[in-house]
Amino acid sequence: MFKSKSIPTLMLFSGLMSCGSSDTTNTVVADDTSESDTVEVSEGYYDADMFTVLPLSEDTVSCTLENGTSTTCYELTFAANTVGDTEGEGTIGPYCPDSITTPRNEAGLGVYDGATNPGFQSLVDAAQGMDADGYDIIDEDGNIRSGGGGAYSYCLSMPFDSSLTITYLIPTSPEFRSEAYYIETVGSIGVGINGIPIKGDPPSVTTAEAGIGGTGSGNIPALDHCGGHADPAGYYHWHFIPQSINTVFESQEYDFTDLYGISCTNFHIEYEDPTAFAGLAKDGFPIYGAYDDLDSISTVPSESAEVDECNGHTHATPEFPDGVYHYHALETGAPNVPVCLMGSFVDRNDFTVQ
Ligand SMILES: [Zn+2]
Ligand SMILES: [Zn+2]
Repeated sequence: MFKSKSIPTLMLFSGLMSCGSSDTTNTVVADDTSESDTVEVSEGYYDADMFTVLPLSEDTVSCTLENGTSTTCYELTFAANTVGDTEGEGTIGPYCPDSITTPRNEAGLGVYDGATNPGFQSLVDAAQGMDADGYDIIDEDGNIRSGGGGAYSYCLSMPFDSSLTITYLIPTSPEFRSEAYYIETVGSIGVGINGIPIKGDPPSVTTAEAGIGGTGSGNIPALDHCGGHADPAGYYHWHFIPQSINTVFESQEYDFTDLYGISCTNFHIEYEDPTAFAGLAKDGFPIYGAYDDLDSISTVPSESAEVDECNGHTHATPEFPDGVYHYHALETGAPNVPVCLMGSFVDRNDFTVQ
């Protein structure tokens, strides 16, 4: 099942030069590449062809896993944000609504964990639940406070910085742990196919301390309609598996698509295929959308195939025809990311941020 691959350095260089343009880099063809011009990448489950952007650099380095094993890791550096802007094409957002009368399809989403109407919802609704619980987030004119820094509660949306890069260390030979590792709030899960970090639950409104994820107690971070946003340092990241978020919006529990017309429509994301390869977890195992695509028949893992507590199992996939352990996004969970990992990983929550 291990893949072996030679990547011409010219291709890597071309990826570097066009890092802001995500879907053109795979068309670069290197010619007359000599043996000395190649970087040998073997074993493991990383393959640049499975990503929609090429890394700015990739290498194989020595690393130590959290279980103490000395092994080798892929060292992959990606542009930190490759899925659009908040202006122009407008592929990212919306985030904080102006007021309680803002249409929900023009408002971002949030996960409220207080007493009144908790859960994953439009920020138009979350703000009202928060206000009912005593968080003063709506002013006397019905405007939703945003920005932060004062005495009130706020809807938070941070500007992102597209000049940033992010480096991941991912084991080349994944190893199973003795027991599942549960992802902590905003803990790193892995890297999406656009090179963007995938993280666990966004910060709690009710218990987060100031500084964690940029929020203080009583502030709610805004997520866009593909489940992403920027942290206070400007790094865009996912709290959902975006390729599969529309199954959450269409689910009976949320029904956001029918009720409000909300769906992930960012053209940088293959959101129309919830069976798609969606990235690599930091333990080196692949992550897929909510459904399997076996023999062209889409099946819900929980119905047709046994999955473990991390929503993972082993079988052949289009990318790994000999079989591979892999995670699936939750079909209706919000967030829909796997809640735990079965493999060992390099123990640094935010990888290396450069
Ligand atoms: Zn976040
Ligand atoms: Zn599967």
